[in-house]
Amino acid sequence: MPSPKLRVLIVEDSKFFAVAIRHRLKVFENLECVFIENYADAKKLLKQQGSEYFVALLDLCLPDAREGEIVELMNKYDIPSIIFSSNFDRESLNRYYAMGVIDCVPKDSPASLDYFIYLVNRLMLNRKINILVVEDSVTARKILCTQLIRQQINVVEARDGKEALELMETHHPIHLVLTDYNMPNMDGFELTRKLRSKYSKDQLPIIGMSSHAEGEYVVQFLKLGANDFIHKPFSYEELLCRVSQNLDIYCLIEELKKSVYIDALTGLNNRRFLLEYGDELFSDKDNKAEGLTVAMVDIDHFKNINDTYGHHMGDDVLARVSENLQRHLVDKDLVARIGGEEFCVILHDKNADEAMGILEKIRMSVAQDSVSISEKEIKVTVSIGMCNHAEEDFRAMLKIADEALYNAKDHGRNCLRVA
Ligand code: GH3
Ligand code: MG
Ligand code: MG
Ligand code: MG
Repeated sequence: MPSPKLRVLIVEDSKFFAVAIRHRLKVFENLECVFIENYADAKKLLKQQGSEYFVALLDLCLPDAREGEIVELMNKYDIPSIIFSSNFDRESLNRYYAMGVIDCVPKDSPASLDYFIYLVNRLMLNRKINILVVEDSVTARKILCTQLIRQQINVVEARDGKEALELMETHHPIHLVLTDYNMPNMDGFELTRKLRSKYSKDQLPIIGMSSHAEGEYVVQFLKLGANDFIHKPFSYEELLCRVSQNLDIYCLIEELKKSVYIDALTGLNNRRFLLEYGDELFSDKDNKAEGLTVAMVDIDHFKNINDTYGHHMGDDVLARVSENLQRHLVDKDLVARIGGEEFCVILHDKNADEAMGILEKIRMSVAQDSVSISEKEIKVTVSIGMCNHAEEDFRAMLKIADEALYNAKDHGRNCLRVA
C-alpha cells in the first residue's frame, strides 16, 4: 500500500522562485505541495486546515511580514521550517537557529535550489533513521537529541558505552551512533572498538565527540574505526552538516547494496545474494548448514504466459508468484529469484517432513492463486525440487535440488520431488 503523501507548505511571494521550487519538487512523488504567497493567507490556511505539514519552506521577506514573522507563525503550529532569504547575516542566522528552524538557505544562486531539494530529500529519509546518542551529561544529551529530532531523526539515548551496547541489541535498526569520549563505565573509545568488532564502517557509521582540543583524541577515534569526529562545543549547523554527510554516505551504500543484491522486478534477493549467502552458511564455524533445505522452484510453461498475454503480463505473474513465495516464509528462511522464472527457497532448521510441508503449501497456494488481467484469470503452477541432506557445499545442494526439479518436470509438473 502506498504511504500517504507528506505535505509541504511553501510560503513565497516571488512567482519566479515559487515556480522554480514547484518544478524541482516534482521529483518527489510522495510530496504534496501547498503554495501560499503571503503571511495573512498562511495564517488563514493554518487556522482553517490545521498544521499537518512535514516541513514548511519559508521566504523571510513577505509583502505583509518583512521581518521573518512567518517563522513565529510556523512555531506556533509546530511546523518545522526551512527558511530562505537573499540576505542572511551571522547574527540573524543564530537567532533563527535559536528559534528552532532546521536550516537557512541563502537565495543567491541556482545552487541554493539544489541544496534546498537535497535538504527536503534528506529530511524525508531522516524520518526512517534511528540514531543512538551516547552521552553521559544529561544537559548535553538533551540538547543533542532535540537538535537531531529537529532534523526529523528518531533518537535512542544511552548514558554510557555499556548502556549503548545493550541498546544496540534491543533497538533495531540503529543506523548511526553518535558517541561522547569521556563517560563512566565505558568510554567512547572502548564503545567504538566493541562496535567495530561487530559492524563495519558501512554497516554502522560512528561519529565521535569530545571536548578535548588535542588532535590525538580525533586520531584515536578515527583509528578505532569512527567515521567522523566533532569537537565540543559545536554549533547546531555543524551537527546538521556532519550527521547529514554521514547519513548521505550510509544511504548511498545501502542503495548500492540494494541494486547489487535485489532483483528489480520482484524485490526478492537475486542470484548473487543467494550464492554469497549460501557459501557463507557453509564457511561458518557454527555450521549453520545443519538442518538446511535448498529448494528450486520453477514456474511451469511460463513461456506460454508470455506468448499468450505478452511479456508485460508475464512480469505481473512473476511478481505475484514472488509475493506468494515470500508469504510462506518465516524468520531466517528466504527466497531468491535466480533466473527468469526460477526461484530458490532456503529453509533453516527443518527436517525433511517439515520442509516438504512448507513447500507443498507453497505449491498449492500458487496453483490456487490467480492474476486477473482484463477480466481474465491467469493461473500458473510451479514444480519444485528439494534437497534436505547436507552436502559438502552450498553449490552441491543447489545442483541436487535442480536435478530433483527436472524430475518434477518429468513427472508432469505442478509437483514436489525430493532428492
Ligand atoms: P517449463 O515448465 O519447462 O519450465 O517451461 P517454461 O516455459 O516455464 O520454461 P522455459 O525455460 O522454456 O521458458 C522460460 C521463459 O521465461 C522464457 C522467457 O522469455 C521467460 N522469462 C524469463 N525472464 C522473464 C522476465 O523477466 N519476464 C518475463 N515476462 N518473462 C521472462
Ligand atoms: Mg562525557
Ligand atoms: Mg519454467
Ligand atoms: Mg526455467
